[in-house]
Amino acid sequence: MSTAFPLTRTTRPVPEAERAARLAAPGFGRYFTDHMATATWTADAGWHDRGIGPLAPFTLHPSTAVLHYAQEIFEGLKAYRHPDGSVWLFRPEANARRFIRSARRLALPELPEEDFLASVEELVRADAAWVPVPTGEESLYLRPFLFASEAFLGVRPAAEARYSVIASPAGPYFPSGVTGVTLWISGRYTRAAPGGTGAAKCGGNYAAGLAAQLEARDHGCDQVLYLDSAGRGTLEESGTMNLCLITSDDELVTPSLGTILEGVTRDTVLTLAPDLGLTPVERTVTFDELRTSAADGRVTEVFAAGTAAVITPVVGFKSDAHTFPIADGTPGKKTLTLRERVLDIQFGRAEDRHGWLRRV
Ligand code: PMP
Repeated sequence: MSTAFPLTRTTRPVPEAERAARLAAPGFGRYFTDHMATATWTADAGWHDRGIGPLAPFTLHPSTAVLHYAQEIFEGLKAYRHPDGSVWLFRPEANARRFIRSARRLALPELPEEDFLASVEELVRADAAWVPVPTGEESLYLRPFLFASEAFLGVRPAAEARYSVIASPAGPYFPSGVTGVTLWISGRYTRAAPGGTGAAKCGGNYAAGLAAQLEARDHGCDQVLYLDSAGRGTLEESGTMNLCLITSDDELVTPSLGTILEGVTRDTVLTLAPDLGLTPVERTVTFDELRTSAADGRVTEVFAAGTAAVITPVVGFKSDAHTFPIADGTPGKKTLTLRERVLDIQFGRAEDRHGWLRRV
């Protein structure tokens, strides 16, 4: 088959027994497959040198732009093995389109959607042996990324950029059953301002969030939930997940887009909500509203949505001034049902009515 990303097979793959041992306890982001996809863009020649080759380090000049000015974007998606052994991607077109939007914001070249899809699919084909046979929720995590690779210290969009995709087997997010998290509301750090990079998936956003993550840990919380940067007290998102509330009148409420990342899982749950008798609503929600609604029972469940954990129940919140649970402080029933719905589609146990799966 002809492809834009021709394969050069490694002559030194990870030995089969070692691969099996890694797949038996993959964790997250710890082991990598035998190959990687790469492509280069230059201002003169556009996109070229597309291919799949052996996983190898990059050699970068110390002045390489990304190391100084963080001109970089990335994506995250997964490949799932179905009961008949076939391998499928979940909504990769949505990631390809978000990659283009992120590139625009970071003044990086736009990778055409068909190149994004071909690079991911060809890499998964080359490393198909690394797609776990799920006993729980194991999958192959795919990490496309694009960075300014020009060796030049001037502050301007780089004239050379490198694209790559690496793959890493991922174990179940909740190995001993789904548990709830407590979110820290930081009064000190915000994530994104209007006109900033909040809606882009760029490395800098995550670097800036690490101090807030430490602050959350110091307060005994699992993750941060950011409020808006203008001091209106509106809920935005957590460091790697979008937030959703379920109300007593069966609405599934999630903060409107703008300064948050447009999550694929967020869109998936908004689309599936009516199947569970929930009305999807995108609007602003303040922390004060959440607090009073949790107290008087109008908010019955809260969860966070993202590719890594699919859906994580949120069982409580903590800020400098307030600590409170959601309902009885255990994962909500509708949250867990929605989580199973999404997983059933991803792992081929339920009908794919929305055409979200793409066979590799
Ligand atoms: N918000 C942020 C900041 C994220 O990093 C992610 C993970 N990509 C999400 C939300 C969830 O997005 P998705 O459902 O596409 O994984």
